[in-house]
Amino acid sequence: MKTIDKIYIKGEFVTPKGTEYFDLISPATNEKLGKVLLGNQEDTRNAIDAAKKAFQTFSKTTIMERIEYLQKMKASIEKRKDKFIDVMVEEYGGTFQFASRSFDYMQKSFDSSIQLLNTYEFSKKMGDSEVQMTPIGVVGIIIPWNSSNGFVCTKLSTAIAAGCTAVIKPSEMSAQQTQLITECFHEAGLPKGVFNIVNGLGEVVGAEISRNPDIAKISFTGSTVVGKIIAKEAVDTMKRVTLELGGKSPNIILDDANLEESIPLAIIAAYMNSGQACVAGTRLLVPENKLDEVKKLVKETVMNTIVGDPKNETTAVGPMVSKKQYERVQNYIQIGINEGAEILIGGLGKPEGLEKGNFVKPTVFVNVNNQMRIAREEIFGPVLSIITYKTEQEAIEIANDTTYGLQAYVSSSDEKRAYNVASQINAGRVLINGLNHDPMAPFGGFKQSGIGREFGTLGLEAFLEPKALIR
Ligand code: NAP
Ligand code: MG
Repeated sequence: MKTIDKIYIKGEFVTPKGTEYFDLISPATNEKLGKVLLGNQEDTRNAIDAAKKAFQTFSKTTIMERIEYLQKMKASIEKRKDKFIDVMVEEYGGTFQFASRSFDYMQKSFDSSIQLLNTYEFSKKMGDSEVQMTPIGVVGIIIPWNSSNGFVCTKLSTAIAAGCTAVIKPSEMSAQQTQLITECFHEAGLPKGVFNIVNGLGEVVGAEISRNPDIAKISFTGSTVVGKIIAKEAVDTMKRVTLELGGKSPNIILDDANLEESIPLAIIAAYMNSGQACVAGTRLLVPENKLDEVKKLVKETVMNTIVGDPKNETTAVGPMVSKKQYERVQNYIQIGINEGAEILIGGLGKPEGLEKGNFVKPTVFVNVNNQMRIAREEIFGPVLSIITYKTEQEAIEIANDTTYGLQAYVSSSDEKRAYNVASQINAGRVLINGLNHDPMAPFGGFKQSGIGREFGTLGLEAFLEPKALIR
């Protein structure tokens, strides 16, 4: 049993003023792993104060100094690869496969930020004037549990590259993962107050960050519902916001696609991170005349998808993060049944032998139409809806008939055709014939999937304020 009773303010591990504890429960067994002492409003204000003081000097650091800090941060996590993977598997229930990829992704975010610093022009000429791209101020970073340290690394490395200081509020369910990364970054020896981390509830710590006038910008990842609350609160002090919200990503299989390749990829896209991914490809759009073939391949692939102990290297789908998330997914499967969709594989209840944890059966619905709730709402679990179309035009229409627009997928044996379809989809990213990630390309959503972009030049500029000097 671990007790986490420290938060990180002004370069020190301090005991929060808050007195409330939150239990840490294993997603795989529902046994208690430990507890975390939560910070309160006063703790949050102290953290913001420290970041505000640190900004005075940190905003004036040179590019070389920031590169050195980023290198030290990367080196501090590099040494503890196994620990990062183990704690993510234990605390979050992320599969070993996912936790390993997530660790690579954490490290690469520092490489990307360093690369940006080596190439980005912080002073540009526009019109007849000089435009200085200046650090925006103290940044509030509010993140969920589904890739906690991945989000910390992406957002904090970009903030530091920009010369900003930060207050981070992770999910309280990620307390052990947070503890580990805080120890690493403490060791990296950044100036005191550049980053501060406060465990605590969204309605307490997150809400203070959203309203505090000393926060200049919020970088948030999480649900669309909470994103809207934060944006409303932020407008009173005109904070800049970058919101990475939900998705209901379409995956268009064109009629000339090689199904033997595209269907297994579609299942990986749907069930990545056990389905707890904003970019999960949860609407599979297939040509009506290929439905029988698709059903056969989907069934085969899902039957061979290993669900179980996230520690095992072959496990593809682990438990849901919490009982609440398990129940949410069960509720959506029931909604699908009530709406008249047909279960091709999976369904309600836990897989045999996995009754103790928050495991769900990887589920696929057919006979789904795009107006059903299971095709419109983000489920955040391994539940896939197959929807048929008659023409390419109809496929594009269905793909775009959603309030979201985060990511989409297109498969075709004709790359030019796939590009043409991809260019008609309203989403921040469209992945063509594969599941590649480009850390220097923008990431973010159209419509209610969010505001703004992360990664690359656009991601960096979201932490900068342009100042034109006109003579
Ligand atoms: P969430 O409620 O959006 O929480 C995300 C972060 O915001 C957490 O740190 C949360 O703190 C904080 N927060 C909550 N209420 C807040 C408020 N009023 N002001 C400021 N911050 C606040 O997401 P969740 O509870 O982790 O998951 C719920 C659902 O969100 C999921 O089922 C899924 O559909 C969606 N989700 C989407 C993504 C994505 O990447 N798009 C990621 C995770 C979840 P607490 O942890 O204390 O609530
Ligand atoms: Mg919440």
